[in-house]
Amino acid sequence: MQFELPDDLRLLQNRVREFVRTELQPHDAQIEETGNVPESAMAGLRKMGLFGTNTPKQWGGLGLSMLGSCIAIEELAKAHTAFYYLSGVNVHIGSKAIEFFAKPDIRDKWLPELASGRVIGAFALTEPDAGSDAARIQTIARRDGDHYVIDGRKTYITNAPAAGVFTVFATLDPSAGAKGICAFAVDAKTPGLSIGRVVEMAAGRGSEHSELLFQDCRVHRDNLLGQEGEGFAIAMRCLDAGRTHWGAYCVGAASQLLEYALDHVSKREVFGRRLRDHQGVEWQIADMASALHAARLVAYEAAWRYDQGDAAARTAAAALSKYTGADMVSRIADTTLQLFGGSGYSKDLPIERIWRETRVVRILDGTSEIMRQIIARNTFRTHERRNTAV
Ligand SMILES: Cc1cc2nc3c(=O)[nH]c(=O)nc-3n(C[C@H](O)[C@H](O)[C@H](O)COP(=O)(O)OP(=O)(O)OC[C@H]3O[C@@H](n4cnc5c(N)ncnc54)[C@H](O)[C@@H]3O)c2cc1C
Repeated sequence: MQFELPDDLRLLQNRVREFVRTELQPHDAQIEETGNVPESAMAGLRKMGLFGTNTPKQWGGLGLSMLGSCIAIEELAKAHTAFYYLSGVNVHIGSKAIEFFAKPDIRDKWLPELASGRVIGAFALTEPDAGSDAARIQTIARRDGDHYVIDGRKTYITNAPAAGVFTVFATLDPSAGAKGICAFAVDAKTPGLSIGRVVEMAAGRGSEHSELLFQDCRVHRDNLLGQEGEGFAIAMRCLDAGRTHWGAYCVGAASQLLEYALDHVSKREVFGRRLRDHQGVEWQIADMASALHAARLVAYEAAWRYDQGDAAARTAAAALSKYTGADMVSRIADTTLQLFGGSGYSKDLPIERIWRETRVVRILDGTSEIMRQIIARNTFRTHERRNTAV
């Protein structure tokens, strides 16, 4: 077993770290204030290849392994979350269905655009009455000659107002549950598709999440991803990539918070001593460092398992990484804010922003409760296999 990153990934890590420090973080406060992400920063993200970290080189991506992609995302997570929503989310749920399941012409049309950041991709699964229970979606796809006609309503779709292409999930038959679901690549300019209400979230200014409305939206059958009825499995495949990346995101955000905490407790004096010289604070720092270290190992293992290609192991590891990371970063954000006292809660510092930003990881791409369900079921399966083998 090898615990050091190979040289190429170490170089990548340094390169992205420097880019984030010099070209992204200086914009954080302004994005939070105005909600605008400067075009220069977007151009920098494109130049660095951060819209296509894990997309193969033949379609213009960086062709990194999932481990490499996670190393890059970990660094990206140290800047305002809008950067990750706009570029990183594009790498997984925004483009994976097209990469893996589109017909060659459709894939060749969209994937280079997505990997370069010229086009943003969005993933439209959730509906007002179907989130965790995604097999219950009601958006209908009706066959009509060479076309499907889509009707329905999606919600909370990240980047929808900026997207050029959507991976859309709709059902041929709501009574068929997961087996009736199909996935489609849908051009944002398709008549019958429109953006509904933009939903204001607790955090994440600079990237938008909105409703997506379908009314007699005709999509040629060439845009079907995979086969009819494979849509649910396609969604889960995309979410494996998403959850693996979110695990790494949590590690990056938490390590940024820990840096802030370490600086602060080294400077701030209370009762005649620096905060770091009080044992209660030492223990808090130790708890943060331990939790971060453990979550980083889990995140890297999930990325490695993703690269090995064993589907069951990939899904289980992705859920474990997202669950562990989301829980860890929530606690580290809360402790960091507490260590800063009033200034941590104030808008003068970025701590409260990161505290709000990271809260969502327990909700999107599958909630922590659903991650625990996957982890528990996998644990039972392993237990039963072990007992059968005896
Ligand atoms: C900022 C943001 C961005 C998002 N981006 C996208 C996107 O790009 N595309 C997209 O399709 N969706 C997106 N979503 C939607 C997101 O994936 C859903 O919000 C999430 O899956 C939960 O669904 P829900 O909100 O309907 O909650 P529900 O499914 O109604 O769940 C409510 C609560 O019940 C719990 N619960 C549900 N089932 C169980 C169970 N079996 N056991 C125990 N507890 C359970 C949940 O964990 C949760 O705490 C986004 C959401 C947010 C907040």
